[in-house]
Amino acid sequence: MVFFCFLVDQKRKVHSSKPAAGFCSRCGGGASVADMSTATRFCYVPFYWKSWKAIICTFCGAILRSYR
Ligand SMILES: [Zn+2]
Repeated sequence: MVFFCFLVDQKRKVHSSKPAAGFCSRCGGGASVADMSTATRFCYVPFYWKSWKAIICTFCGAILRSYR
């Protein structure tokens, strides 16, 4: 049996965050600096990780700025 799998997805995780100056341009919520990591998965098997820092909105989760 031949099984083809084309499912690729990404999981984003916030490791830690602390309050930062600034407000969200979308909802006006408070911003925070967060340590993020993104795992790219293929058939549910992670094969690529990336850690990065970003300023995110604590209310709606929008990424206001990212440092890669
Ligand atoms: Zn927001």
